[in-house]
Amino acid sequence: MTDKMLKFVDVSKQTPNKRNVEKRLDDFREIYDQFINEKAKEQSSRCSQCGVPFCQVHCPLHNNIPDWLKLTAEGRLQEASELAHSTNNMPEVCGRICPQDRLCEGNCVIEQSGHGTVTIGSVEKYITDTAWDKGWIKPIKITKEQNESVGVIGAGPAGLACAEELRKEGYKITVYDRYDRAGGLLIYGIPNFKLEKFVVERRINLLKESGIKFQQNIEIGKNFTLEELKEKHDAILIATGVYKPREINLPGHNLKNIFPAMEFLTASNRKGLGDKVKNFDNGILNAENKNIVVIGGGDTAMDCVRTAVRQNANSVKCLYRRDRENMPGSTREVYNAEEEGVKFIWLSNPKKFIGSEKVSSVIVEKMKLDKIDSSGRKIPVSIPNSNFEIKADLVIKALGFDPEDLPKLFNNSELVVSKWGTIKINLKSMETSIPGIFAAGDIVRGASLVVWAIRDGRDAAVEIKKYLEQKKINKTKAA
Ligand SMILES: Cc1cc2nc3c(=O)[nH]c(=O)nc-3n(C[C@H](O)[C@H](O)[C@H](O)COP(=O)(O)OP(=O)(O)OC[C@H]3O[C@@H](n4cnc5c(N)ncnc54)[C@H](O)[C@@H]3O)c2cc1C
Ligand code: SF4
Repeated sequence: MTDKMLKFVDVSKQTPNKRNVEKRLDDFREIYDQFINEKAKEQSSRCSQCGVPFCQVHCPLHNNIPDWLKLTAEGRLQEASELAHSTNNMPEVCGRICPQDRLCEGNCVIEQSGHGTVTIGSVEKYITDTAWDKGWIKPIKITKEQNESVGVIGAGPAGLACAEELRKEGYKITVYDRYDRAGGLLIYGIPNFKLEKFVVERRINLLKESGIKFQQNIEIGKNFTLEELKEKHDAILIATGVYKPREINLPGHNLKNIFPAMEFLTASNRKGLGDKVKNFDNGILNAENKNIVVIGGGDTAMDCVRTAVRQNANSVKCLYRRDRENMPGSTREVYNAEEEGVKFIWLSNPKKFIGSEKVSSVIVEKMKLDKIDSSGRKIPVSIPNSNFEIKADLVIKALGFDPEDLPKLFNNSELVVSKWGTIKINLKSMETSIPGIFAAGDIVRGASLVVWAIRDGRDAAVEIKKYLEQKKINKTKAA
C-alpha cells in the first residue's frame, strides 16, 4: 500500500463532517488519477512497437497508435494528445465507443499472440480527457479567413468533423440541424452510460468558439430547400444520417406501448440532459418495474436492453432470430448485457403481439439455422408448433434503420440515390450527382460507426477544399 493510500485510510476513520468528506474526496481523486495514470502508462508500455502496426491499419482513421502509446508510456501526454488529434476530431469519443474488438484492439499483435490486447481505446480516452482537464485543447486559430462559405446539413460526427477541418482552412461554416441540440446520434442515440453527454457538448462548444455557426431546429426540405441553401453557400455537405426505423408488421403491432428504439433512447437521453419528456414523465417510456421485450440483435438493441436495466425494469428480454455466434451486435456488449441480468432468447422470432389496448405479451416462435445465404450468413427458419408466450409491458423494436427518402424530402429529383436509398457519390471526389453538393457518413454508407463518419467527414473536407480552390481559379480565369 502506498503512503497516499495509508493517508486515505486514516482520513476515512475520522468523524465524517463536510471538511473530512471533501478531503477524502480530494484524496480519492488524487489516488484515482494516479491509478489511472499508472494504468495508462502500464498499458502503453505493453505495446511492442512491432513495426507492423495492424492496429493502425485496422483503425478507420489510421491513427498513429504506436507513437501515441510510446509518448504516453514516457509521460509525454500533451504530445500524445496533439498526435491523436492530428488524425481524429474526437479521440475521446472514439476511445469510449469504438467497437475496438473489431478494429484496432482486435488486430493488436499482442492480442493475436494470446497475451491480451493493449487497451488502445482506454488509453486514447485517457490522453484526450487529460488534455481537456489540463486546458491543452483550444479553439481553432484562423491564420487566414477565406471568403467562401460551406453549409453542412447534419450536426452528427460526419458533419462536425467536416465542419472542423474546413474551419481550420479559414472557410465560413454554418451547420444546420433539425434537432434542438447538435451531436446527431452522439447526443440522442448513444446512451449516456456509454458516452457521457458533457463529452459531446464540450466538443460542440469548442467548435462554436472556433467560429462555426450552428442553426438548430432547421430542417432542410422544410425550413429551407436544398436550392435555397445552395444559393447561400459555395458548397454543401449532406450528412443527415439514417433514421427510418425498420418496421415489423405483425398482428397486434398497433397496440399501445410498442415503440421504435430511437423513441425509447431519445426519451432516456433527453431525461439525462434535464429535459421534460412527457412520455417518460407519465411513465409510458420509462421501463421502471416493467417487463421489457427488445426485438433485434444489433448494437441499438444492446443499448435498449442496457438502458432498460438502468431504469430498473422488472425483467429485460432480448429476442433474436439467429444465435449468439451470428449476432450482428458486439460480443462485448452482449457479455455486458448478460452480466447486467438481460436474458437473451436466441433463435426466436416474434409472431404476434397480444393485449386488449396495450401490449401484454408476445407470442414467439422458435427458429433454427438452415442453409447459408448469398451474404454468407445462415438463414433462420421457423420450427413448426414451437410457439411460446412471454410477458411484455413495453416492447422496443430495434431492427435497424434505413435512409429517409431524401430526394422527396428535399424535393429534388436530381439527387441520385442507390436502391437502398443511400446517397450515391463519386467515391473519389465525394460529390453527389449535383455539382457542389457533397455527402458523407451514414447517409452514404448506411448505418455504420462513429469512427467511419469522422473519417468520411474529414475526407469530404479535403474534397470540398479542392472544389472551392478550383472554383476560385476558374473565377479568376473568367474575370
Ligand atoms: C442507438 C445507437 C447506438 C450506436 N452506438 C454506436 C457505438 O457505440 N459506436 C459507434 O461507433 N457507433 C454507434 N452507432 C452508430 C453511429 O452513431 C452512427 O454511425 C453515426 O452517428 C453516424 O454519423 P452521421 O454524422 O452520419 O449521422 P448522425 O449521427 O445520425 O447525424 C445526422 C444529423 O443530421 C440531422 N438531420 C437529418 N436530416 C436532416 C435534415 N433534413 N435537415 C437538417 N438536419 C438533418 C439529424 O438531426 C442528425 O443530427 C450507434 C447508432 C445508434 C442508432
Ligand atoms: S479511433 Fe477507434 S479504431 Fe481507431 S484507435 Fe481509436 S478506438 Fe481504435
